[in-house]
Amino acid sequence: MSPLIAAAHRQPLLIDIVLTLMNSSLFAADYKSEPYWWLAAPRPTLPHSLPPAACDVAIIGSGYTGLAAALELARAGRQVLVLDGEDAGWGCSTRNGGQVSSSIKPSYDELEAHHGAASALAIRREGLNALEWIEDFIRRERIDCNFSKVGRFHAAHHGAAFKALVREAKLQPKEVEVEYHVISRSEQHTEIGSDLYHGGILYPAHASLHPGLFHQGLLDRVLQAGVQVIAKCRVHALFNERGHFRIETALGVTQAREVIIASNGYTGSVTPSLRRRIIPIGSHIIATELLPEAVTNRLIPKNRVISDSRKVVFYFRLSEDRRRVLFGGRVAASETNPDISAVPLHRHMTRIFPELSTTRISHSWGGLVAYTFDTLPHLGRHSDGIHYCMGYCGSGVSLAPYFGTRLAQQLLGRPEGRTALDGLQFGTRPLYSGNPWFLPWTIAYYRLRDRLPMVW
Ligand SMILES: Cc1cc2nc3c(=O)[nH]c(=O)nc-3n(C[C@H](O)[C@H](O)[C@H](O)COP(=O)(O)OP(=O)(O)OC[C@H]3O[C@@H](n4cnc5c(N)ncnc54)[C@H](O)[C@@H]3O)c2cc1C
Repeated sequence: MSPLIAAAHRQPLLIDIVLTLMNSSLFAADYKSEPYWWLAAPRPTLPHSLPPAACDVAIIGSGYTGLAAALELARAGRQVLVLDGEDAGWGCSTRNGGQVSSSIKPSYDELEAHHGAASALAIRREGLNALEWIEDFIRRERIDCNFSKVGRFHAAHHGAAFKALVREAKLQPKEVEVEYHVISRSEQHTEIGSDLYHGGILYPAHASLHPGLFHQGLLDRVLQAGVQVIAKCRVHALFNERGHFRIETALGVTQAREVIIASNGYTGSVTPSLRRRIIPIGSHIIATELLPEAVTNRLIPKNRVISDSRKVVFYFRLSEDRRRVLFGGRVAASETNPDISAVPLHRHMTRIFPELSTTRISHSWGGLVAYTFDTLPHLGRHSDGIHYCMGYCGSGVSLAPYFGTRLAQQLLGRPEGRTALDGLQFGTRPLYSGNPWFLPWTIAYYRLRDRLPMVW
């Protein structure tokens, strides 16, 4: 990274470093710089094992994508190996906000302009499919992860944004319409105990879950299905050797007939062609210390998940016991020290909820989400023969296990594996190799846009 780019990455944080030092009282005595979710779902200890000499399918990445694919393949009788460079589920799958939506990022109009009306509808429908699928999957598999259809309040950060949100909700094509209710500014106290927002849209079908427990449930089912999951086993190199893949890992060499790359925002130099199609973006969350229920009931009275209309979005909710606020956002261009990212998050949280100004932080953490240049997820088979599934653009709680399952069904030759995203070009940009040097400027531009009502 050039010194100029490194400085641009660092510069917005200097003030926060100083503030962190000045604000040690922001942190609770038992503060931890790791996900709050790891309290109820500690990092799993797997039996120590080495990769087998050979397997049918090797999957790189043990998050929702990799495990969902593994489950489908193992239950169809394949010998499956899942490898992760860290603990199982160490990536975004145990770090996210647990907000479950129908989120396909591009609007119908944007999709129609690029792909035509029929594909646009089908792609938007995949978001709805994923939302239905995850509810059904959790029920079918009896995964105890606090899944609940609490509804999302999508709050407008200024008046022009409110008008745009209402227009967008009303213009949804009927075939793929998501139920919504317009909440005006004068009514919003039923949804959020804040005066900062200008009303918003309520999506009752959206849900919340405990990300750590969901991952743990998935891992348990995968292990029961006979999958070998090896943690702390980074893949260093991958070679297509006519008829099989040779996989070099930190714990030895293995061979597989098929390989699935499920590394999402952590996709690295093992698959350079995928790396240059993914833009890793840091997202961060803080959890507050325990709060009286009277306070949390006032702040988020109906236990909704909440997001706002900023391009550089804030998202927040209560913990599963309704005793803490979990507040997330994109406060830095790339992953940084959570002790530092906690400070701006706390500042933004108290702008929304001034009564939390003296509330301390119990946990702070971050992770890398994977954006793509067309803001759509991508799955399929690359020209070098490897399968991939990634690029959920910050909305992978439902999309990752859903598309992971679909990809596995494609490997099994099953018709239900077909998706509206099959065959879409997975694009990159000239000279981009996976280092998003442009992010600090892009985020600064969007922050500026977020402040200008006239661009809405
Ligand atoms: C702070 C934060 C908040 C979020 N909030 C939400 C939310 O509220 N709702 C929502 O829908 N989505 C949210 N997301 C996004 C969501 O969590 C992800 O889209 C989803 O978890 C992706 O799952 P995955 O299995 O594809 O990738 P991950 O869970 O990131 O797993 C990838 C794994 O690949 C491993 N890996 C990478 N390279 C190698 C290698 N060479 N060898 C071995 N292993 C390797 C990594 O160690 C990692 O464990 C959030 C993400 C973050 C970071």
